[in-house]
Amino acid sequence: MAETLLRGAKVVVTMDDAGTELASADVLIRDGVIAAVGQGLTTTGTVHSAAGCVITPGLINTHHHLYQTLTRAVPGGQDALLFGWLRTLYPIWAKFGPEEMFISAQAGLVELALSGCTLSSDHLYLYPNGARLDDTIAAAAQVGLRFHPTRGAMSIGESDGGLPPDALVEREDAILNDCIRVIDAFHDPRPGAMVRVGVAPCSPFSVSTDLMRNAALLARDKGVMLHTHLAENDEDVAYSLERFGCRPGQYAEDLGWTGPDVWHAHCVKLDAGEIDLFARSGTGVAHCPCSNCRLGSGIAPVRAMRDAGVNVGLGVDGSASNDSGNLIGEARQAMLLQRVQNGADKMSAREALRLATRGGAAVLGRDDLGQIATGKRADLAIWDVSGIESAGSWDAAALVLAGPTRVRDLFVEGRQVVGDGRMLTVDTAALTLRQNQLARALMD
Ligand SMILES: [Zn+2]
Repeated sequence: MAETLLRGAKVVVTMDDAGTELASADVLIRDGVIAAVGQGLTTTGTVHSAAGCVITPGLINTHHHLYQTLTRAVPGGQDALLFGWLRTLYPIWAKFGPEEMFISAQAGLVELALSGCTLSSDHLYLYPNGARLDDTIAAAAQVGLRFHPTRGAMSIGESDGGLPPDALVEREDAILNDCIRVIDAFHDPRPGAMVRVGVAPCSPFSVSTDLMRNAALLARDKGVMLHTHLAENDEDVAYSLERFGCRPGQYAEDLGWTGPDVWHAHCVKLDAGEIDLFARSGTGVAHCPCSNCRLGSGIAPVRAMRDAGVNVGLGVDGSASNDSGNLIGEARQAMLLQRVQNGADKMSAREALRLATRGGAAVLGRDDLGQIATGKRADLAIWDVSGIESAGSWDAAALVLAGPTRVRDLFVEGRQVVGDGRMLTVDTAALTLRQNQLARALMD
């Protein structure tokens, strides 16, 4: 039996239903699972001091396109609107291959890990030059994060009136066959799973109605989750009204894209009826505040969603539209945006942190994660609040108001992935070097 005792934390923020916070407390990890939480715990195993630190559940990222870490701050896309931004980046992404997918995924996951993330989903919807979902799964296994990759897809290219170049779209039968392949090869439905695969056509404007419907049937047959982009901005809603004759929520419902096994990214423009639909059906939302700001999409009605009972998690979104991937920073941004929209008393620091933990776990169907309680998996972020960013704080647990934006230590399934602010699983310097070499090659 492998035991690790995290001892003497200043505060343990459990994120249980009651919002319990324990001062001067310990967390005991046994075989990847939280065995006990409280004061004065002992072990015959390893003792890991958490003095001067806040322990939170590991943060959960519900929306990303990891491959985009190779196209951060591309000049032509820096100030473009969504559709123009896509047109700038598609030709660059068409040059990617397996190594670009692997290295960019590692870079994105390392960045997330250092910001407290223990589980990330990913939405990979283009597969040029032999790239496969397998490349990103291999990357995540090496980094040591829990991973929910989704097999994305685009099938309507320029010659069919779509946005992406024909070279980046696939035949719909090939898409569905590859979905089956990666689910059968990698999806693990058991509690504590390190990999769960989802099915994720890129968006209603890049695949056919048939593919949306068939993807939902396939996902239900296989018992996996569904994910896509929905109601991201005004152009998106206008496209839906013009092309499908209905709002995005109606389109989703008609095709089987609502339910507790579905989560949609952005949902900035959901109206009251759509919020009610999502609440009634248990459909989840990946809220991506920095990306929404970066692309000028608007402020998602997160307060109204939460009040209606919609499951909302946080996502950093792809690095080409953020352009960073700091998940604790995303929680702060979520809090700030709801205050701009609704007032300073409408989103507390603690609620923002709850979105990043319990919220994400609920959206991704993981009741084994998101809180520090006996029997939950040992995914834990340890934040050093003895440094300058927290100096003078009266409330160490209000991390997103005053606190570090990087973890000191990170545990995933009881295994230490970050120690003293450094990755223990991959050589970050070598990874950075290779990532920059690949980015430079893409500029030619
Ligand atoms: Zn996205």
